[in-house]
Amino acid sequence: MDFESRIEDVFAEQGLLAKNDTHFKPRAGQTQMAMAVAKSIEQGSVLVVEAGTGVGKTYAYLVPALLSGERVVLSTATKALQDQLFGRDLPNIAKILNLPVRMALLKGRSSYLCLYRLELARGDTQLSDRGAHATLAKVEKWSQVTRNGDLAELTGLDERSPVIPLITSTRDNCIGAQCPKFKPCHVNLARKEAMAADVVVINHHLFFADLAVKDSGMAELLPTVSVVIFDEAHQLNETGVQFLGAQITTGQLLDLARDTLAAGLQLARGLQDWSALASGLERAARELRLSVGKQWQGAKLRWTELEPEGVDSLAWTTAIQVVCQACDHLRIALLTVTELAPDFERLCIRAQELGQRAEKFLQVCPADAVRWVEVGQQLRLVESPLDIAESVKKKMLKNTAEDAPQAHKSWIFTSATLGHEAQLKWFTVPCGLEQADVLRVASPFDYANQASIYVPQYLPKPSDPMHSAEVASLAGQAIDVLAGRTLVLTTTLRALRAIGAALEQQFADRLDIEVLIQGNLPKRELLARFREGASQGRSACVLVASASFWEGIDIPGDELALVVIDKLPFPPPDDPLIEARSKRLERGGKSSFIDYFVPEATVSLKQGAGRLIRRETDKGMLVVCDTRLTQMGYGRKILSALPPMRQIQNHDEFMSVLEALNSD
Ligand code: SF4
Repeated sequence: MDFESRIEDVFAEQGLLAKNDTHFKPRAGQTQMAMAVAKSIEQGSVLVVEAGTGVGKTYAYLVPALLSGERVVLSTATKALQDQLFGRDLPNIAKILNLPVRMALLKGRSSYLCLYRLELARGDTQLSDRGAHATLAKVEKWSQVTRNGDLAELTGLDERSPVIPLITSTRDNCIGAQCPKFKPCHVNLARKEAMAADVVVINHHLFFADLAVKDSGMAELLPTVSVVIFDEAHQLNETGVQFLGAQITTGQLLDLARDTLAAGLQLARGLQDWSALASGLERAARELRLSVGKQWQGAKLRWTELEPEGVDSLAWTTAIQVVCQACDHLRIALLTVTELAPDFERLCIRAQELGQRAEKFLQVCPADAVRWVEVGQQLRLVESPLDIAESVKKKMLKNTAEDAPQAHKSWIFTSATLGHEAQLKWFTVPCGLEQADVLRVASPFDYANQASIYVPQYLPKPSDPMHSAEVASLAGQAIDVLAGRTLVLTTTLRALRAIGAALEQQFADRLDIEVLIQGNLPKRELLARFREGASQGRSACVLVASASFWEGIDIPGDELALVVIDKLPFPPPDDPLIEARSKRLERGGKSSFIDYFVPEATVSLKQGAGRLIRRETDKGMLVVCDTRLTQMGYGRKILSALPPMRQIQNHDEFMSVLEALNSD
């Protein structure tokens, strides 16, 4: 039986999946996707698949990937999805197919316990906080039993704990082969396991970080695999640009000064004036921070000339030059002691790299990139490409042609939302994949019967100061009828706070309704509470959230019946990256609004709306509180890209559909 027929068999009505997975139902779209993936693997081609919610895309790529017998890398958007794929989907499907697959999970080095730094942390006298001591004790205990040192195993560890940087390594402070813990090192063992595995599960951050600085072992791994699959591929471009540019922060300079002083005094006291060298770099970092003057925390300063907007040119240039000099002084001093300890060699490389990066920021920004400065506790200087197209073509797809034994590498990109039109250009153009084969597989859900959409016409314009209050009032009426079971997605933090506060106040006396607000608890906990909802005899929940909650969250069943979106999610026009992308389009004779802002809003709205119906039995309503969706030409275009939900015409109908949802 040929490869494609074997795949078809697995998904057939009497196939292996039907026999071994009680939840499996044959779906034409899933089989179609699996066949396309199989063909791409056979041909070593590039395939982009948009698979609507409910298609079952994970099995559709896992089955052909595993049955191909090739080495495979799977990349997902987040570490949580990575764990789910590795811990649940992959073993399930390997068992059903009865294949002895060697699997490995590879994360970035910051996810693993560093045994060397744990030893240093034990003697760290700066660790005065009692909570930090308790966390460290917990880590110590766990370090005795963990096999792979993945911090995700350590339940209850707050991801913001100040202990984490002390017990994990960075590319800067890992001392590599000279490390006394090199043999049992968890980072190295994870990489070794990845090199020996048939299927390796990574994440997009790791993939691009490695493409940029080659630190995670991906550089060795990639040439040896034949199939690379990116799930949640809609995040690739935005993840990629974060890593493919250049950055320097005043915090990195201060860290280097502190680490050099500590190592110098401990291992080479008296051989150089470590205090003077470290304070020289600290002063340079502080001067750089001060050179931008008073700015609000979180400001992003445009940087289209030699200096950022509103910053004195001479003060800025001088401050960067002083940073370069301080890094160079440090580098020269460290060179004289590299023989004494491996730490000095790493410090020397850090000083050199930071100095070179600072120097780069004295030159004019390349035409295909954009620069800005972020102001916070520290200053972050950023140079970013506008998209990942060039890197994908040169650093990823080019491998296919260059590596003779790997001439048939297959690249597969998939997600539930990759655009708003047949060619999926929203995804393929910025990712440099215009030549890829494209497939769109529609969701199997019956949206006309399962879901409705309401755009209240009486609401004020989104720019009106009363808009958030009106959204909260409308959501409040619906929550009252549904007794919770509502997700409110906002486009701004200001709306999040206003709507959250209004709903909290309205339902303060209702014991059966709990209002959860993003920021009050970690995301994982908020979602767990929402999912538990009424199912465990507790109150049903309302969740008010923004940003990261628009996508990737899955709340099937009765706990979610209503999604309220405050306004069309256009990207922020004054963000330097967005502005640079707009200008590039306009230089090319296009309209930034029609060709960038509208497609971006369409894809984001599709993502947000996609939270509503997660199963064939789900029912629910989407309310978009933005009249532009029905009153403007571009709004109607966005509306037509959403799943074909029944449209609600007025408030009375809105209330009766809510009542019906309540009694379903
Ligand atoms: S090799 Fe690097 S990551 Fe591993 S234990 Fe040593 S310092 Fe830590």
